[in-house]
Amino acid sequence: MRRNEPDPLVPACRRPLWYRRDDMSDPQPLRFVVIGAGMSGILAAIRLEEAGYEDVSIYEKADRLGGTWRENTYPGIACDVPSHLYSYSFEPNPDWSHRYSPGDEIQAYLEDVARRRGVVGRIRFGAEIARCEHRDGRWLLETKDGVRDEADVVIGATGVLHHPNVPDLPGLADFGGAAFHSARWDHRVPLDGRRIGIIGTGSTAVQMTAALVHRVAKLSLFQRTAQWIAPQENPPYTAGEKATFARSPEQMRELRDVMSRMFADNFANALGDADSPQMRMIAEVCRANLENSVSDPVLREKLRPSYRAACKRLVVSPDFYQAIQRPNAELVTEAIERIERGGIRTKDGRLHELDVLVLATGFRTDRFLRPIEVVGRGGTRLDDVWAKRPSAYLSISIPDFPNLFLLNGPNGPVGNFSLIEVAELQFDYVLQLVEEIRTGRCRELSPTHAASDRFDADRVEAAKKTIWMTGCRSWYLDDRGVPAAWPWSFERFRERMAKPDFEAWERC
Ligand code: NAP
Repeated sequence: MRRNEPDPLVPACRRPLWYRRDDMSDPQPLRFVVIGAGMSGILAAIRLEEAGYEDVSIYEKADRLGGTWRENTYPGIACDVPSHLYSYSFEPNPDWSHRYSPGDEIQAYLEDVARRRGVVGRIRFGAEIARCEHRDGRWLLETKDGVRDEADVVIGATGVLHHPNVPDLPGLADFGGAAFHSARWDHRVPLDGRRIGIIGTGSTAVQMTAALVHRVAKLSLFQRTAQWIAPQENPPYTAGEKATFARSPEQMRELRDVMSRMFADNFANALGDADSPQMRMIAEVCRANLENSVSDPVLREKLRPSYRAACKRLVVSPDFYQAIQRPNAELVTEAIERIERGGIRTKDGRLHELDVLVLATGFRTDRFLRPIEVVGRGGTRLDDVWAKRPSAYLSISIPDFPNLFLLNGPNGPVGNFSLIEVAELQFDYVLQLVEEIRTGRCRELSPTHAASDRFDADRVEAAKKTIWMTGCRSWYLDDRGVPAAWPWSFERFRERMAKPDFEAWERC
């Protein structure tokens, strides 16, 4: 039997005896469990309440909400999606300090929205879901501490860039100074006047380099692969602009729409076609940025990537090139041999002495709900279904896992769109599915195997044209080297999310 074929011994939909009612039209009070109190989980709780669902609990393993913005507190953290776009559409914020605001402002915004919208009272903090099992038409959930709960519908809002990728570098445990991953920043460690080493050259390392180089005695940036860097100005909003925004939320909404269109037209939509004029333009902008910003020809060549711009997730920065040219900064391109007590030994035999070592080495981007043990209909285990790689129909749901809906799940538009906008569109879709259950038209919904397989095949085919497949290593690529992200335009995503295609869904 192929992995995705249903087990003929297991009835497609099991309806429990207690559910057999004559009158299917009576509205049913549904219980929802949301897993994760980050940006998507907060969104889910707000939208469920707006839709009239009262029985909603959020399980959050940490003691604070915020997800990515709670966990990433490294110096220089900011979001490279414009703040008025990286906001809930229903909660525009007149107080954003910059066009691209820092991480702590985003965290404060999420906390403020969650508090004002009554979400905080629904969150069970310090409660990590360890197991979810679909049995007799309901989800049975259990936390790591053995607390049990039940739900009709589970919303998985566990994030994408969540599980740190800690590289298996020999000797890492022997390092004598402080060492931590960028998403586990240890704020007790002093940095001023010390020697700091950063491994990695992704968005995180680039932001951190620019923020730290002025403070430290020496900054060594260990580059395995050079990055194309697009310049990005980040002007602050003036007091006058903020006052105008506060007076006119409508103006903020218009700005959001303009930003969304510009972001999609000038960048995001073009990623799906490596030969598009926009991709050529981005390549030219990045090349000019490198040529015009880095004066030392040797350093310039070390910083020049050997692949096409935007093949990896594009890095944007107004000041990285300036930072790496400071006298106390060094770009180390020699490969790492091992970590020693005193620092990093590179393959040329040199020891780079360090007091602090930061692993800006990214995330394990194939985890999603895992390590939660999820058991679907007929005992189907998510670990088995996702053994090779994670997948989800329209990034939202998985055959044999009824009434389990993911926000920012596998194969969605990640990295190239505002994930808040993505989650909002996905949740509109999910609400329409849930409406089927609420009104009694069905009790369980999951995508058919056929629809899911077709979506996957189409996605893999479309991915061939994307810039992500033009020859680089990146976190977009799955174990086969196929981009695991949405390969089409944002319009197409918007259209697909507007209304469920019910023929793709098994209802029972
Ligand atoms: P990343 O883009 O995955 O970069 C990880 C870096 O670590 C790469 O340079 C990689 O080198 C290097 N690396 C990994 N393992 C290594 C090893 N064993 N030895 C040497 N180098 C190693 O991670 P990230 O910078 O944390 O960013 C992840 C994503 O988070 C971004 O792409 C972006 O979507 C998001 N992010 C966004 C913002 C924002 O402003 N919105 C800011 C930060 C992060 P290779 O390139 O050779 O693999």
